[in-house]
Amino acid sequence: MTKTILITGGSRGIGRATALLCAAKGWNVAINYAHNEAAAADTLAEVEAAGAAGFTMQGDVRDEMAMITLFDRTVATFSNIDGVVNNAGIVAPKSTVTEMSVERMRRVFDTNILGAYIVAREAARRLSNGGSIVNVSSAAARLGSAFEYVDYAGSKGAVDTMTTGLSLELAASGVRVNAVRPGLIETDIHASGGQPDRAERVGSRMPLGRAGTADEVANTIIWLLSDEASYVTGAFLDVSGGR
Ligand code: NAP
Repeated sequence: MTKTILITGGSRGIGRATALLCAAKGWNVAINYAHNEAAAADTLAEVEAAGAAGFTMQGDVRDEMAMITLFDRTVATFSNIDGVVNNAGIVAPKSTVTEMSVERMRRVFDTNILGAYIVAREAARRLSNGGSIVNVSSAAARLGSAFEYVDYAGSKGAVDTMTTGLSLELAASGVRVNAVRPGLIETDIHASGGQPDRAERVGSRMPLGRAGTADEVANTIIWLLSDEASYVTGAFLDVSGGR
């Protein structure tokens, strides 16, 4: 049966790469985004060009009703949801903790923690035996991101903890919950955090000597979504070039 995969932040970066690999497998894709309608339309056009079905839907992961509507629409369109990629996330500009405003920390925590928990909750309510949730965490959860964004690192630590707890809550129902922890990956997220050259600048310091690509993370996500990972739950897959 054709799988249906819902991807938050599926319009750009790692989410987009995952959407295109899903489409290459013939899976249906629900592509959520926050603001950039053109990028979402472009991703959908590529999904359809690959011969797969999909739709785009604007909705902020912090907005409970928007996320419920996203899941409802996915079920109404494709009649089932087999996998959820809990991917939408943000960083704020480089800063030490001493300089962080509460407003900034709240925005990061609300998006990366509350948003991820809302999406995970809806996924847990709707997936059944054989279903798979992939949380997109970060190597930052292990590393702490000192002098850059300790708030972001902590938000991904919360995602890791949720991955462990939810995987245990859902194991008996046959739903798997895992996390990927990307390291330094070439996407727009660095520009949105005020460091457009970050991947190029820091890449050579990675043990593998370069930044990773969104496709390299997406391949790992696709594996976790697939039946090939049928005995993998509560796991953390580092896609971080050895860091
Ligand atoms: P990106 O290129 O900046 O893309 C972010 C995507 O998330 C876009 O589709 C964006 O939609 C969407 N989004 C942002 N805020 C949202 C919100 N509140 N509600 C719904 N959608 C929202 O980011 P990326 O690098 O692919 O990152 C994806 C995930 O990987 C994030 O969780 C990030 O923390 C994690 N990660 C990335 C790296 C890295 O080096 N790139 C490393 C470790 C972990 P719009 O286009 O509409 O804004």
